Amino acid sequence: MQQRPGQSINSYKMRIAPVAFLLISLISGPCGAQTSDKLKFDIHAVDMSADACADFYQYACGGWLKRNPIPADRPYSAVFQQMREINQTRVGEILERAATEPATTDERKIGDYYASCMDEKTIEAKGLEPLQAELARISAINNPSELANEVARLHGFGSDALFSMSADQKLEDATQVIAYLDQSGLNLPEPGYYTSEDTELVKARAEYRAHLENEFRLLGESPEQAKAAAEDVMKIETALARTELTPVERRDRKAWYHLMGLAELEKLAPEFRWKEYFSAIGFAPMGQINVAIPKYMQAIGELMKATAIEAWKSYLRWELARVATPVLPNRFRDAEFDFYQRTLAGVREQASRAKQCTDLTNRDLGEAVGKDYAQRYLPASSKQKVLEMLGRIKQAFRNDIEQSTWMDASTKREALRKLELLRTMIGYPDRWRDYSRLEIRRGDALGNALRGKEFEFRRQMAKIGKPVDRGEFYELVQGVEGYHDNPLNVIVFTAGILQPPFFDGQMDDAVNFGLAGAVMGHELSHAFDDKGHQFDGEGNMRNWWTAEDAQHYNVRAACFVRQYSLYPAVDGVKVNGELTLGENIADNGGLQLAHMAFEAEPHSSALIDGYTPEQRFFLGWAQWRCMNITDQKARELARDDGHSPGRWRVNGVVSNMPAFAKAYGCRKGDTMVRAEPCRIW
Ligand SMILES: [Zn+2]
Repeated sequence: MQQRPGQSINSYKMRIAPVAFLLISLISGPCGAQTSDKLKFDIHAVDMSADACADFYQYACGGWLKRNPIPADRPYSAVFQQMREINQTRVGEILERAATEPATTDERKIGDYYASCMDEKTIEAKGLEPLQAELARISAINNPSELANEVARLHGFGSDALFSMSADQKLEDATQVIAYLDQSGLNLPEPGYYTSEDTELVKARAEYRAHLENEFRLLGESPEQAKAAAEDVMKIETALARTELTPVERRDRKAWYHLMGLAELEKLAPEFRWKEYFSAIGFAPMGQINVAIPKYMQAIGELMKATAIEAWKSYLRWELARVATPVLPNRFRDAEFDFYQRTLAGVREQASRAKQCTDLTNRDLGEAVGKDYAQRYLPASSKQKVLEMLGRIKQAFRNDIEQSTWMDASTKREALRKLELLRTMIGYPDRWRDYSRLEIRRGDALGNALRGKEFEFRRQMAKIGKPVDRGEFYELVQGVEGYHDNPLNVIVFTAGILQPPFFDGQMDDAVNFGLAGAVMGHELSHAFDDKGHQFDGEGNMRNWWTAEDAQHYNVRAACFVRQYSLYPAVDGVKVNGELTLGENIADNGGLQLAHMAFEAEPHSSALIDGYTPEQRFFLGWAQWRCMNITDQKARELARDDGHSPGRWRVNGVVSNMPAFAKAYGCRKGDTMVRAEPCRIW
């Protein structure tokens, strides 16, 4: 039930910055122990035996960590994960009802899709039969043209075999959508898994090879064939991994942006039949294409020369099996779970079939489900309250920029302009997606999943060459998500996140500002983080900084790199200060902004539960970040996730804030009072 770990099927995934983990998407299934519909800020999360000035995370989260162990079917527990669990249950109810008494055409579709996915008896009875025609196509390949055609077909099914093809905005003209050809093709979390000599990764690699052999045996191959096929896949994926950019290298947006026309692309990798490929996906390569990483395309050319057609077939069979697995018989899903969840992420149990099918329906018919979700669960008042709060935080940012001592007038003017042009989308899109051309058949789980993916691929391709749609949501409405997108210069909060404890009308402002306010400030700060500050208000990548101010910015950013690089992530592995820079800037900026916005208006100073409003503000922030996580998952995230571990998202930020020291009476020399605090905004 995973997406390709560490990779993502749609390019937008690579550029947005959700509230939670970029990698832990709803698709892979939010599940957990707490299913209560009454989540709220919990004062008992506090560990009174801890010293707030020595380790605020332990103080604010100690009680929570004890009472919220990792659910058996997840690699971590966190408050936002519990919210996802609630939403998943709600969506499950919507789908159960749609399966028996659909009221609209869309409901019939989501009901049929879900029911087909749940019908395991039929899936088991059919076995590999529904996949045979596709396997036969692969087996019949015997020249480079047919290979290119098959890559195109698999891309339609949601595979990113060899490279990824997607639609995205032009960096220097955000009104235009162009084709992106990017690195992909791996089935381990990031390139280092193929090449590193780190003991853990060498072990993961060996286990991956065993998993591949197992998969080929499940596809009906003999042990010898399976072994040879696994070797083929390892060779191809390792060769691709060697030229891929690492997650840190990808933080430089220009490192994977190279515009060229078809002729130039053909020169880079003449061995791959680009014309056949483009024609098979129905794309006319007339204008400029972002050939993200030219040396990667060259490597594909080299690989084409060096690799026998039989080896390519092994690779494509594996790619096909992976996209089909969620709707194949149980033995495939068990094998997938054993490797990707149990071995790589330390998860103990597979999520229930109902959860898996809920996620799949979300994946392929997300807005048809989201429409029902928003109607039922988004109170009209939430949107207004969130907009008011955002308005106050935006005002705090405005003041902060105006009062800045290190930016000159022209940089300030541009920054303020970007802030003015920043749009907000709350809840759900103005226009829902039209699924009328997606055919869903009751009883055809595999066909539905492949057609669902194909529908999405065609939808993406249809964007190329047209003006950008500024109203599209890049996350599920029913997801627990917030993000800022640079080329669109927009902040989005989905309907699914607008519920307690993220925002709670029953709670005091202090908690709401420390929690939802800080997350809003976080997303706002992304517009000006290490990547965001390279984009202007229109979403174009443009340098609007004077040389001197850019220098000031970099010095300030470097302070965060030094600070976070010292923190341990998981046994022996340190936090990567460069990989997490954008998120750390957003965390620090976000809490500062929320604090300024909270203090900008008069509020009661009464104690609640024995805490001052200022203290509760910081408890709110911490509680959103409390997290228990498996060592395996923590190790993976340390390599490829842009967020710091929960402990440092709390301690790293509060120790930079004099307001925190004041609220808790911490003194110079305490661990939570850094001698030289880092700050950009
Ligand atoms: Zn973020």
